[in-house]
Parts: sequence; structure tokens; C-alpha cells
Amino acid sequence: MVRVRFAPSPTGPLHIGGVRTALYNYLFARQNGGKMILRIEDTDQTRFVPGAEQYIIEALDWLGIEFDEGVHLGGPFGPYRQSDRKPMYRQYAEQLIRDGWAYYAFDKPEALEAKRKEYEAQKKTFQYDCNTRLQMENSLSLGMEEAQRRIVAGEPYVVRFQFPDNIDITVNDMIRGDVTMNSRLLDDKVLFKSDGMPTYHLANIVDDHTMEITHVIRGEEWLPSAPLHVMLYKAFGWEGTMPRFAHLPLLLKPEGNGKLSKRDGDRLGFPVFPLEWHDPKSGEISSGYREQGYLPQAVVNMLALMGWNPGTEQEIMSMEELIKLFNVEHISKNGAKFNLDKAKWFQHEYFQMLSDEEVAAYLEQELKARGITASHDYIVRVAGMMKERITFPNELWETCCYFFEAPTEYNEKDVAKRWTSDMHIHMAKVVEILNTVPFEHDAIHKALLDDYIAANGLNTGKVMNSLRIAVVGRTVGPDMITLILTIGKEETIRRVERAIEKIKVNS
Ligand code: GLU
Repeated sequence: MVRVRFAPSPTGPLHIGGVRTALYNYLFARQNGGKMILRIEDTDQTRFVPGAEQYIIEALDWLGIEFDEGVHLGGPFGPYRQSDRKPMYRQYAEQLIRDGWAYYAFDKPEALEAKRKEYEAQKKTFQYDCNTRLQMENSLSLGMEEAQRRIVAGEPYVVRFQFPDNIDITVNDMIRGDVTMNSRLLDDKVLFKSDGMPTYHLANIVDDHTMEITHVIRGEEWLPSAPLHVMLYKAFGWEGTMPRFAHLPLLLKPEGNGKLSKRDGDRLGFPVFPLEWHDPKSGEISSGYREQGYLPQAVVNMLALMGWNPGTEQEIMSMEELIKLFNVEHISKNGAKFNLDKAKWFQHEYFQMLSDEEVAAYLEQELKARGITASHDYIVRVAGMMKERITFPNELWETCCYFFEAPTEYNEKDVAKRWTSDMHIHMAKVVEILNTVPFEHDAIHKALLDDYIAANGLNTGKVMNSLRIAVVGRTVGPDMITLILTIGKEETIRRVERAIEKIKVNS
């Protein structure tokens, strides 16, 4: 049974890189009929940000990334928030000490700082490891008896992992294959602190084991920690059920150099967060995909393809299709560049898939906000006609306003280009035609374009664009006769008469 987890730390809004990690876990779980778990890793209380956990849940819910167990749902392996699991970690730290895989360390921050300085002076970097640990204050250098005495006396301590000297540790990664590192390069990481809190490393491994996680799919930034994690499984005697690892490539800046950051988003005008985020400390607001009008399906599709592809040219894929096609082995080893044009392209494609009714619902909100009333059928008709010109819902009003409001001004450039001094005569003729011929496409077309414009040798572009200026206010919009038929005979005539009266040209 496949069991995967998304394990964010509630240190702020969830970055889209984190969303992609959650998505890949979800696709993998669903594809394998497995379970998807949301675990909150909040052992570092100094970095805790109120509201972040709620934000993560809301964002993933908006995107349709569903969980089977988790902090918000409960489940048989709970609790799912590490701070709520605090009492269970100590025994594991003690087990490691008992078995010679870890030791107590009492070094004060000042002593560690002094060591670092000492090494720096010799142009070296201090690392707490097999070469240096005996120079430090810990249960290895002081002896266990002295260590116990200090602990009983209430001295603060940490528990550090004790890497064996000079062994090669191999992490088998589903994307990268075997990644091997020598233990001499690794420092004796802190696993547990005397306040009873485990660090990320210990809590993460204990939880993955006790929650029976089978696959760890997470960002590449955790690859350097993976050898320690593999060693911890060995130290606990859990090698037999160690999860498989897959480290995902980074999301890169649009230029490709370095990790995508919030600053890139601010600089280039795109969100790096799924939802808008109000920072509780600074009050700063960061924009979100949802508030910018992106559809969740578009965001999911775009993120799915940032670092993975189905091996074909297919780009548009629903969640269902992604679940079918997703394949960890096809995940790229290289970072994926963020591409704003591509994000907009996906959004446009998905906007086109909305039904006319769905687009109309957005438009209805805009009209309501402006106190404009129109029949539902009319709004649906306009929505259907104009949808292809729209990428974001907030463009709807700007693009469709003239279906609901007569122009109050006429674009000067367009007028100068098209509305010649004879135009009031031609526009009066348009009114006459509309008043006399049947109000349907072919009749209007024939009377206006053939029998009047062509028969009199007039410039079609000039006359039709002037008519457009009269009806719309500028030379934009769909086919002119369709437009007339949509807004109706009376309204068209009113607008044309008004334009004849208002638009003055110096002849
Ligand atoms: N809490 C870690 C994070 O915030 C999780 C890393 C992992 O998935 O092991 O990314």
C-alpha cells in the first residue's frame, strides 16, 4: 500500500514549489491507489507563523489536491502535527544513545562560536564531526557518568547523531539513481534538544516510519540531508521498511539562474504563492494565483509540467489525466524555469473550457458591482461570444462593457482616422436601413454593405468602423452585424443617433 505525505513547515505562505511537491505526491498516491497524508512539521517554534497551517490547507483545497489523512482530517496514524506528537520523540533519541548512534552534547553557543572563529583564523571551516567531536563537551569526551550528572543537575544539552567514520552512504533516489556521500563530509546533526523538542531530522524519520510512509517525494533542497536520513533508518533498525526517495528539481527564476523567489514574482509581476498572503507581522500583502483570477485547474496543469512531462507533446491535462500519465521516472533532474507566458497560456486555455454559464457568472458579479441589470440569457450570450478574448475574469468588464452601456465618449484617434465629414449622412442612412429592413443578419448585410456601401462606391472600412465607433466608442469588438443584433435595434439606433449629434468634425 503506497502511503505518501506532504510535510510542510508552517513558516509562512506555501510557495508554488511546495505546491508542486504536494501535487506530485498526490498524483503518485492516486495513481497507485495509495494514501496521501498532510503532516505539519512545526518543531522549530522560532519559525512558526500564525495562519500558515490554515493557509496551506486552504491553498491545497482550492487546487483540488486532496488528502486522506492529516492534521485537518485526523486518521489512524495521528496526531499529524509534530508539536502534538512531542512526547513520543524522546524515547527514540534515547534509543539511539543506548545503541551508540548518538550522544549528549553540552557545548554552549559561545563555545561553538569560539571554535568556529578558531578554525576561521586558520582558513578552515569547523564541523562538529568524527574528527572534532572529542575536542568538544559531550558524553563521548566527558564519559556517560559525567553526562548523566550534568543532565540531572539541569544543564541544557542536545543529542547529536554520531556518524561512523569514513563510510560511504548511498541514497537510492528514484529520479537521480544512486547518490553516494562519505560520512566524513557530514556533521553530527542535532536530533533532539533538552526542551524535549526533536529537530526536523529526528521527527521526520520517526514520523515517516510510524506513519508507514512508503515514498518520500520532496524538494531537492533535502537531498543533502538524505544520507543522514538513510543512516537514521539503519540506526533504528528500520532499514527493511525505509521509504523510497525522490528529490524533485528546483523551480528556477525565469532567466534560469537560481531558485524562484518571492522577489522574482514582485520584480516580474507574477504570484509565487497560490493564495494571497497577508503577513501577520509586517502587514505586507503578497499576491496569489487565486486572487489574480487564475483557475485552479490551470495552475495545477502548469505546475505538473514544471519538471515533468508525459513523454509526448500533450500539454493540456486534467487532474484525472495527470493521475493516469504521471510517472516519477520521467521527472527531470534539471531545474524547471518559471515561464509567465506559459502560465497565462494555460489560464487562457482553461478559461475557454468554462461553459458560457460559468463565464456569465463572473460577468454577472461585475454587473452587480456596478449596479447594472441585464437578463440572464443576454449575459450568457455575451459571455459565450466574448470568452475567447478573455484570459482573466477581471478583463471581462473592460472587454464586454459596451454590451451593457452606451459609450459616453468616442476614441479620438479612431474618430480622426475614420469619421470623415460626410459620416453623419451615412450614419443617418444606417438608422434608416435599420428602421426599414427586417432585423436579421442577411437582410441588414445586404441593405447596408451591398445596396448602400458598395452600390455607392463608399469605403467599407471607413463606414463600418464609424458605425463601430458610434456603437462601441472605439474600433474594437466582434463582427459588427452580430453586435447590432445582440444589443438590439432600438439601442443601436439610439447610439448611432447620439454619435451623429455628439461627434463633430471640422470640415
Ligand atoms: N518540513 C520539511 C519542509 O518544510 C519537509 C521535508 C520533507 O518532506 O522531508 O520542506
